Amino acid sequence: MADQVLYSSTRGGSDKITASKAILSGLAPDGGLFVPDHFPKLDKTIEELCDMDYKEIAYNVMKLFLTDYTEAELRDCIAKAYGSNFDDESIVPLTSAGPLTFLELYHGPTIAFKDMALQILPHLLTTAAKKNGVEDKIVILTATSGDTGKAALAGFADVPGTGIIVFYPKGGVSYFQERQMVTQKGDNTEVVSIDGNFDDAQTGVKKLFGDEELKKALAAKKIRFSSANSINIGRLVPQIVYYVWGYTRMVKEEGIKSGETLDVCVPTGNFGNILAAFYAKQIGLPVGKLICASNTNKVLYDFFETGSYDKNREFTLTISPSMDILVSSNLERLIYLIAGNDANKCAELMKKLRESGRYTISTEMKEKLADFRGGFATEEDTLKAIHDTYNKYGYLIDTHTAVAASVAGKYAGENEGRPVLVASTASPYKFAASVVKGVSGEAPKTGAEDTPEYEWSLVKKIEELFGREIPNAVLDVKDAPVRHDMHCSAADMKKTVEKILGL
Ligand SMILES: *Cc1c(COP(=O)(O)O)cnc(C)c1O
Repeated sequence: MADQVLYSSTRGGSDKITASKAILSGLAPDGGLFVPDHFPKLDKTIEELCDMDYKEIAYNVMKLFLTDYTEAELRDCIAKAYGSNFDDESIVPLTSAGPLTFLELYHGPTIAFKDMALQILPHLLTTAAKKNGVEDKIVILTATSGDTGKAALAGFADVPGTGIIVFYPKGGVSYFQERQMVTQKGDNTEVVSIDGNFDDAQTGVKKLFGDEELKKALAAKKIRFSSANSINIGRLVPQIVYYVWGYTRMVKEEGIKSGETLDVCVPTGNFGNILAAFYAKQIGLPVGKLICASNTNKVLYDFFETGSYDKNREFTLTISPSMDILVSSNLERLIYLIAGNDANKCAELMKKLRESGRYTISTEMKEKLADFRGGFATEEDTLKAIHDTYNKYGYLIDTHTAVAASVAGKYAGENEGRPVLVASTASPYKFAASVVKGVSGEAPKTGAEDTPEYEWSLVKKIEELFGREIPNAVLDVKDAPVRHDMHCSAADMKKTVEKILGL
């Protein structure tokens, strides 16, 4: 093969393996993340890419990283992932509003950007199993605080050779999120609420992964557990695609010159989305600065400012909940790179993080972060960005996207006039209450939250403001019958899994 890319652990404790094996493993055995041994380069010109549709660009980007998949395999995965399950023909449309252009990553079945990767991961995973002679059924186990669980359910539903079990904390997710999950279709999907909070669910799932007795029982039934976690390289690679796609649309629709440098601004939590933009730059896309936008949980902003990562701080719940994170797992892949691909150095820093909750990088490493800029938005800034974007340009953005829009606005004076592409990660329909509050300046009436009538009145309000049809993802939640009502205590998660899988 011309340019074989192999994967090894950021912590050095594994041999180089193929992309399909890395996707099957998820996490490396030493607890590190799989990284490519080098960056391939785009082998098409911008002009050529500009004439391609989303799927064709997806093929031309993914083939560079997933070099042990055949062309037919990759094209088959891509065709299954990016079709009529998206409510926009182009898959990822762009909308300009004043100085910013928004890359709308929310047209998939759960109206948030995690669909971009989770619609294709199941196909990459089952193909990887076939290629490696793994005949076991793959069962995905996930604990969710709301969004990832639904996106994973939607991705794995009715994919042959797979099953998925999602645990969520009863009372710990929004009305909308719970309805989204309990109405999930697919004969291979199971959704279980537990007594306890998200951490209980997460801890319970981790225990199941490490349970030797369970592993034996599963092996006897030819089943193996897997995770749809965002550290899987099979989730990262499909995310590189939309930056390349977005660039070509900027050329075709927004009049930037082919080869002109573009900045990107990404609302960040686990650091997966922005790392994909950085990988896009490494393969030759003309990206300038990568602006990492945080909410009040601004660990990453502080890291880019000071070179110290410190999770010892108060955790706050914000109106952009998918970014409420103190340990951004995917940052480890960047640390590895700026350490000069030194796995020992990376392992040492991650050990410090585990033991003391903090680490500081060397001056030399910090110099290699010049492509990145950190920024953050307070809750007030976020609501103001929603307000201003709507009032000035008639365009509605969700709370996560608004964090990025706010940060991009603060940065505008410093970027030498480069156009800025903002990753728009969720539909305003998904976080309707805060979006309505941002636009109107008033908190929606209290006391009625989480009732169907209240939620529905917000949806109607968004429709009125946005002027776009209510997505099927929202309509389905309203009318679809409940298909899942299993409930257990955190202590009984194992029994529940055994029962579901007939062990
Ligand atoms: C997951 C998520 C993010 C954060 O993305 P990371 O890849 O974890 O940085 C931002 N916005 C929304 C709506 C999300 O669901």
